[in-house]
Amino acid sequence: MTFGKRKYLDVNAEQLNISFEFFPPKTSKMETTLWDSIRRLEPLAPKFVSVTYGAGGSTRERTHATVERIVNETKLQPAAHLTCVSATKEDVDQVIHSYKDAGVKHIVALRGDPPEGVGAAFRPFNNGYEGSVDLIKGIKAISDDFEISVSAYPEKHPDSSGFDTDIDLLKAKIDAGATRAITQFFFENDHFYAFLDKVHAAGIDIPITPGIIPILNFKSMTKFAKASGATIPNWLNHRYESLENDPKTTQLVSTALAVEQVMDLVENDITDFHFYTLNRADLVYAICHLLGLRPKQ
Ligand code: FAD
Repeated sequence: MTFGKRKYLDVNAEQLNISFEFFPPKTSKMETTLWDSIRRLEPLAPKFVSVTYGAGGSTRERTHATVERIVNETKLQPAAHLTCVSATKEDVDQVIHSYKDAGVKHIVALRGDPPEGVGAAFRPFNNGYEGSVDLIKGIKAISDDFEISVSAYPEKHPDSSGFDTDIDLLKAKIDAGATRAITQFFFENDHFYAFLDKVHAAGIDIPITPGIIPILNFKSMTKFAKASGATIPNWLNHRYESLENDPKTTQLVSTALAVEQVMDLVENDITDFHFYTLNRADLVYAICHLLGLRPKQ
């Protein structure tokens, strides 16, 4: 038997840009979990950390409070998510002004889901922003200094009539001022590569950052994926078989899977990654470690 060195992918961590997404906590216990996670991930020096905006603007105050605390208590650059749902332009403008006043420099501008839920037709609120493009224009009208990120969907948005519509919309978002797109999570990298081909063929050259989600609970993820337009391939189902009541093994499997996914992306020259942390640090920390990232002072 001959012993050889296993082939390791040589990742140049210096060339990687990572970002983390959190959601605003509902309870003081959740707040502790979130802040433990932020503190653990902060030394990995992400390019930015984003904080989501609850469906229908339901977390307006909590998102703001979390973002403001990040500004005041960490060295991190926060990006505040913002949607147009169930709010007048004046309401949304007030939120944008409050971010400007708090020193926030990055907004993730989104249309958002209709109040009736995913799949219902989106209708702008009375005198509200009409969608993501209109919202970006509103942000730009208030301040030209905001960096603006937007969404992109490698497997199409559930409302989408086709990739052409999605790409046209992405172009319109860029023309309005967006400089980065963060994708919906996906499990099959081929969806992402095919999407990148379409985006590049359309002449779009802003960074399209893949959204990576380490799975904490496979059953919840399956439901979430269905609503988000992300498919669960059969091989993924197979990997979580008989782990329903085994959260520890689930997390180990999820870390391995996310590393596998990210390493394949690295091998295909992808250097930027946005991690959906679900406010938990351990899995994401381990994945980043395997990418070669180490805590910085
Ligand atoms: P858009 O990209 O503006 O549009 C979505 C789709 O709708 C398009 O792909 C297109 O198919 C169709 N569409 C829109 N306008 C038109 C038009 N004029 N003509 C034809 N078709 C059109 N939701 C939250 O509530 N809070 C969050 O914090 C949040 N963060 C997110 C972060 C990321 C990175 C992603 C990918 C999604 C996030 N979402 C969030 C979910 C998002 O709000 C929903 O997917 C929502 O349904 C669409 O918002 P959007 O900005 O992605 O929409």
